[in-house]
Amino acid sequence: MDACRNAAHRSAWTVDVRRANYSAFNGYHRTPSPYSQVRCHTCGAVWRTKAAYVDELPDSPPRRACRACAGAADTACRICHQAYCGNCLTDHHHEGYGSPATG
Ligand SMILES: [Zn+2]
Ligand SMILES: [Zn+2]
Ligand SMILES: [Zn+2]
Repeated sequence: MDACRNAAHRSAWTVDVRRANYSAFNGYHRTPSPYSQVRCHTCGAVWRTKAAYVDELPDSPPRRACRACAGAADTACRICHQAYCGNCLTDHHHEGYGSPATG
């Protein structure tokens, strides 16, 4: 996706994944990378960049990013209240439904 180029949106930019990426090719484990994933909460743009401005941007609120793939989370686990996208939530289970989540 193209980067947000509207300077007026800049205050709405946050960093989803800082200098790393999550790839399906390695099982969504965090892999160090010079690139960070930035999100504009005004227009919804998501892009990857290694520009210096990333250092000045805040981290995205955790509930906005899927815990598993760091994509946009559109739902949350009813048990542990972590944010997940629909796909990852399907694969997300707790042993002993209703017991407190650890970690
Ligand atoms: Zn924008
Ligand atoms: Zn996900
Ligand atoms: Zn859960």
